Amino acid sequence: MTEDGGAAEDELSRFVYRLGEAQALTEGRCFLCGVVLEAATRTDEHVFPQWLLRRFDLYRETVNLLNGTSMPYARMLIPCCRVCNNEYLSRLEEKVSKAFETGPEAVAALDRATLFLWMGKIYYGLLFRELFLLQDRRDREAGTIVPPELLSEFRMHHLLMQAARGVVRWREDQFPASIFVFRAQEPSRPKDCFDYFDVIQAPFLAIRVGSTVVVSALQDWGALEHAVQLPALEAAKVLDLHPQQFREVAAIAGYTASLFNRVPKHLIHAAGDHVEVFTMPLGGLSLKPLYDPFEAEDFAHVLAVAFGQPVEDLFDGQYLMTLLRDGEGAPWAVPWPADEWVRPSLAEAKQRPAAGGPRVP
Ligand SMILES: [Zn+2]
Repeated sequence: MTEDGGAAEDELSRFVYRLGEAQALTEGRCFLCGVVLEAATRTDEHVFPQWLLRRFDLYRETVNLLNGTSMPYARMLIPCCRVCNNEYLSRLEEKVSKAFETGPEAVAALDRATLFLWMGKIYYGLLFRELFLLQDRRDREAGTIVPPELLSEFRMHHLLMQAARGVVRWREDQFPASIFVFRAQEPSRPKDCFDYFDVIQAPFLAIRVGSTVVVSALQDWGALEHAVQLPALEAAKVLDLHPQQFREVAAIAGYTASLFNRVPKHLIHAAGDHVEVFTMPLGGLSLKPLYDPFEAEDFAHVLAVAFGQPVEDLFDGQYLMTLLRDGEGAPWAVPWPADEWVRPSLAEAKQRPAAGGPRVP
């Protein structure tokens, strides 16, 4: 059957996961397995895990939400059944927490499925949490930040996350995502050692945790990793990323991921106690590139959001600001310390010597 369901769906229902129906779109069900929650089985799962909030002193810090309001990390909770929380997700957190504590090499050495599921859970958790926040808390009629229809568009992502419960598997020679691990500089205040950037349409999530950066296009079946080469990401591989450089890496990878123009087709079949996902080749019969053309102006707007400053600072219609490469295109080590946030501007960058300053193409 295809991801849109079909005749074979009845066959699946006898097994473990029914597309569409197993995805909770209300707060009364487990966000992961979809079971209806009762007082005895209900727990709250932190979107950002507690070890992370503790390690980086984030309990009282706030997350900026899509509707422009903010909420403390400690209140970013999603409904989860006791089994998913205490068995499957705890196991995941234990491995990931240790790896991040050790550093980028340990994170890169993690089993890729583990890292994918961990990133995927945070990404989906953010969407799920926002689904149940009112668009405008003063106006209940306005609906939620993320409409349920949007969440149901992520049913394939939700299906893949069932791998955390062992009930979904993909073929050994295929992998759902592109994942990059980079090194990061660590500011002196713990709370400055954490940051994230997500793109709703992609799905995409980049995260900076201590000395490690993870960038993931969560459902491109490896396209960002294998089908394109972005100079910015190549530079990132050899740099210790400054917090501002992390923002630029996240913006460029996230923007590129949003240009991915294939809707992968999947064959899903029941195999005993699990379902197997086989993804058709992304190129298919089409010679069309996998990505729509890179538009400098569109990207500049994403970069402006990532840097939190006006687009005019970063793009003048012709030149685009970067903190990742110098005038010769070589990786550029930001000369200011990790604790400092310098407001980058195109005008200033243009006055710097080409070899030493950020690249102005
Ligand atoms: Zn569950």
